[in-house]
Amino acid sequence: MELPYLSYARHLQNRYKARVYRIGVDGLFSCPNRQYDGKGGCAFCDGRGGSAVYHRIEEHASSRLGYAEQGQLFESEISGVSLDQRVALILSQIERGKAFVQHRYKAQQYSLYFQSYTNTYDSIENLKTLYDTALSTHPFVEFIVSTRPDCLSQPVIDLLASYTTKVEKVWVEIGLESANQQSLDVLGRNHDTDCYIRAVDSLHLRGIGVCTHVMLGLPNEGRADYLATARLVNRVHSDAVKIHNLHVCLGTRLDDWHRQGEVTTASLRRHVSDSIFFLRHLHSSIVIERMMCETPSHRRVSPRLFPDKHQFLAQVTDGMLSHGWVQGDLV
Ligand code: SF4
Repeated sequence: MELPYLSYARHLQNRYKARVYRIGVDGLFSCPNRQYDGKGGCAFCDGRGGSAVYHRIEEHASSRLGYAEQGQLFESEISGVSLDQRVALILSQIERGKAFVQHRYKAQQYSLYFQSYTNTYDSIENLKTLYDTALSTHPFVEFIVSTRPDCLSQPVIDLLASYTTKVEKVWVEIGLESANQQSLDVLGRNHDTDCYIRAVDSLHLRGIGVCTHVMLGLPNEGRADYLATARLVNRVHSDAVKIHNLHVCLGTRLDDWHRQGEVTTASLRRHVSDSIFFLRHLHSSIVIERMMCETPSHRRVSPRLFPDKHQFLAQVTDGMLSHGWVQGDLV
């Protein structure tokens, strides 16, 4: 069945004529938006970062520090982790990730994904060591680095661009979340949309693909905001998007607001409807890498009941097909 949107799986199949699986790694990066004691940060962030399911065995025990108010100290320095230890950690994660996707999916081709926290937030020397070592372990198809728009200095972009000849494609995933500056301020993102636009332009100039993270269901946001966000993503020619429904994680500022009754999260029906609205306003060439949050249930306060990804995607697909709607038909 032809999906009414450009799924990531279809994009990979079209481009590589094969299924390519991501191996996510956590290089113990920190975040410039959190204080050294873990305070601050984005209202929705529980300080644990994104992680692949095969690394979550350690999640209950680990607690991450942040950065800020500590000059130029990065988390690894604050917590006393050496570069060698970070390299060893990444190598073991790659081995574990490969074993997992080989066993579960019979995978043969892989992309390398620096997933957790702000993966460009370190000295250029450390970044190069970590990236080079990880990329030397396997002929990866794509190299993907997740970061904030304000952590893409020219030297960092130069370093990332140096890998465009070594893999098929280098991607940077950038958190935008919303085109509404008030929302960014409420969330404590500490960057503006101009910063995002500059980052995307600079990456595109060096042939690096951009995947933009956006959120639907933010406090006080509605369809007009989703439309503005879709239009901004279209305008900068973001190559892909990851759409997240608002999740409330334990211990976050959002959790406080939720307990006070100030914030609610979307029902399945509302997120399906909002996602369809967003897709219809998104250019048809933009790859849809994700459409819902997958925060593990032990960290998630709300929504407590949400179906798995496959049920959710089936409802989006059925909803669009039944009306003859496709991605981008309202652009
Ligand atoms: S930028 Fe990312 S890691 Fe940093 S506080 Fe926000 S969500 Fe958390």
